[in-house]
Amino acid sequence: MTLLGHINPDADTLGSALAVGLALHRRGVSVRVSFGSPEVVPESLKVLDTAGLLVHRDEVPAEPELLVVMDTGSVQRLGPLGDRVGRARGPVIVVDHHVSNTRYGTVHCIDEHAEATALIALKLLDEMDVEVDEPIARCIYAGLVTDTGGFRKAGPEAHRIAARLLETGVDAYSVTRPLMDEHPFAYLGMLSRVLARAELDAGAAGGLGLVHAVVGLEDARGVRAEEVESVIDVVRSAAEAEVAAVLKELAPRSWSVSLRAVGLVDVREVAQVLGGGGHRLAAGFTFEGESSEVVAALKGALERVGS
Ligand code: 5GP
Ligand code: MN
Ligand code: MN
Repeated sequence: MTLLGHINPDADTLGSALAVGLALHRRGVSVRVSFGSPEVVPESLKVLDTAGLLVHRDEVPAEPELLVVMDTGSVQRLGPLGDRVGRARGPVIVVDHHVSNTRYGTVHCIDEHAEATALIALKLLDEMDVEVDEPIARCIYAGLVTDTGGFRKAGPEAHRIAARLLETGVDAYSVTRPLMDEHPFAYLGMLSRVLARAELDAGAAGGLGLVHAVVGLEDARGVRAEEVESVIDVVRSAAEAEVAAVLKELAPRSWSVSLRAVGLVDVREVAQVLGGGGHRLAAGFTFEGESSEVVAALKGALERVGS
């Protein structure tokens, strides 16, 4: 069976896939886990693949027998592996927590109230009577801790589940430090260049404020995708802005944009205006054009949603 995560994978998508994959692998199922980005596996997520189930996207069969897609709201978010959805010879099971999920599979386990897809994965494992031991719990914990912003946004149930996971022996710090608090030294230089050019527009978003930064191809040279992804976590700390955006250059005139809101603006709606999706406080979209055109389009979408 093939389990897929979204492009630019995070701990929720791969943690969910690896947790379920590991449980089935132990039951004798032939399992592979993959995603559409070119790299083999993000370094910070390596610690989750205790059984060596992750394979490069080129090794995903053209016509998979059974496909499970984790934490992925649309076929587009699978990148070059999106065609496997239509080509699967058996069921396509979609496990997700995005409100914007387009229901592209044949079986859907979708709970938009779940704080992480990993929590839905855990429910499935419990229903399958799987013993959730440390290697599986580590994967679930990683998804939960990242999608709740280090438990900042987590409710009581998520904390209870975290306690259960930690009781299996998960070493929280050894999981979270590489995921959230550690970068190669080159990150500091990249961050300083990018932040020096960040702009605040206090009048945008109906006066609630927008802060944005641009990570060009030149800036991203020599750092991993994880470093680029984490820039938004610094940019969003600007107190004057309700909405934060980071424009990440994929190729000349081609951008992936991360959006975050503090609590008043629904950035999923904003992203959807621009063809993207996500969650109320964390969303994204892709855009073709100059960076100034991306910012103009974003400001336009913010006004549209705000009105
Ligand atoms: P991030 O900024 O961390 O890449 O993404 C934040 C959230 O927005 C994620 O939950 C992700 O699913 C969603 N997201 C990011 N980029 C896109 C996009 O291009 N299209 C869609 N549909 N969702 C996106
Ligand atoms: Mn995700
Ligand atoms: Mn998620």
